[in-house]
Amino acid sequence: MSTSDKTIYVVGHKNPDTDSICSAIGYAAFKNTIGDAAYVPGRAGNLNPETQFVLDRFHTEVPQLLSDAAGQTVILVDHNETAQAADNIADASIVEILDHHKIGDIQTSEPIYFRAMPIGCTATIVFLHYQEAKKTPEKNIAGLLCSAILSDTLAFRSPTCTGQDREAAEKLAEIAGIDDIQAYAKEMFKAGSDLLEKDPHDIFYMDFKKFTAGSTTFGVGQVTSMDADELAELKKRMSAYMNDTFSEHGVDMLFFMLTDILDESTDLICAGEGASEAASRAFHSAEDGRMYLKGCVSRKKQIIPQLTEALS
Ligand code: MN
Ligand code: MN
Repeated sequence: MSTSDKTIYVVGHKNPDTDSICSAIGYAAFKNTIGDAAYVPGRAGNLNPETQFVLDRFHTEVPQLLSDAAGQTVILVDHNETAQAADNIADASIVEILDHHKIGDIQTSEPIYFRAMPIGCTATIVFLHYQEAKKTPEKNIAGLLCSAILSDTLAFRSPTCTGQDREAAEKLAEIAGIDDIQAYAKEMFKAGSDLLEKDPHDIFYMDFKKFTAGSTTFGVGQVTSMDADELAELKKRMSAYMNDTFSEHGVDMLFFMLTDILDESTDLICAGEGASEAASRAFHSAEDGRMYLKGCVSRKKQIIPQLTEALS
């Protein structure tokens, strides 16, 4: 088999979000327009309702499930940590990484193209590739990439959002025929909610990531909503769920962010020995076990560095 007919999977992280799915689809499409190899988008888990809405809206098929990466050739998008990657990533051949998170623990045996930028979304990096190659994405791909940027930046509200993200989203919206970006974002966020109909376990793992700080492992999940009443009810259910199932998650501490998009705030709940003390040290705002963090919406920028520091 020559290199040109070897399938190369482009895949995002487990518990995939809209960026992990749409950047995988978008980057595979980009690579296929400039090269001859067969790049195929993959996914490392089930789609969340927001992402399903986006794929339906832009008439795109759900990527193939790649739960075991052993023996595969892969490009990673939107992550570079083993704990977040498809299973057996250590036995895969990683040929490229595009990401916007902190540099993690992924190792490779050969030099690779690794592009990490401190910006709001991997999809912005994918669009930069199109621009640098003087190519224009197809209309549906532009719609997916634009959606990913709106999702990751909470429609430009997150502190992770940069001018590059906003500019990319606006250009992509134009190509995709999205007339009113904020109205579209609202529709997309709404499709991702209806959270009260769902099982707490499913909500918990919709957007969940594991991290390590010193000798402590911890997991942080997040839900976002535009409905404060929904979040208040969810908070009760998720607290009970985390306490009841704590031992099943395989980490020392669990945290869960209930993020209100319109209020631009997060209610942080936790479980596990030392978790609430760690959160108090990290955020200096514990009252009656409630941690209401005004202005906090970003896990990667406003939660993980502070918790990691408090736990180290
Ligand atoms: Mn992501
Ligand atoms: Mn992302």
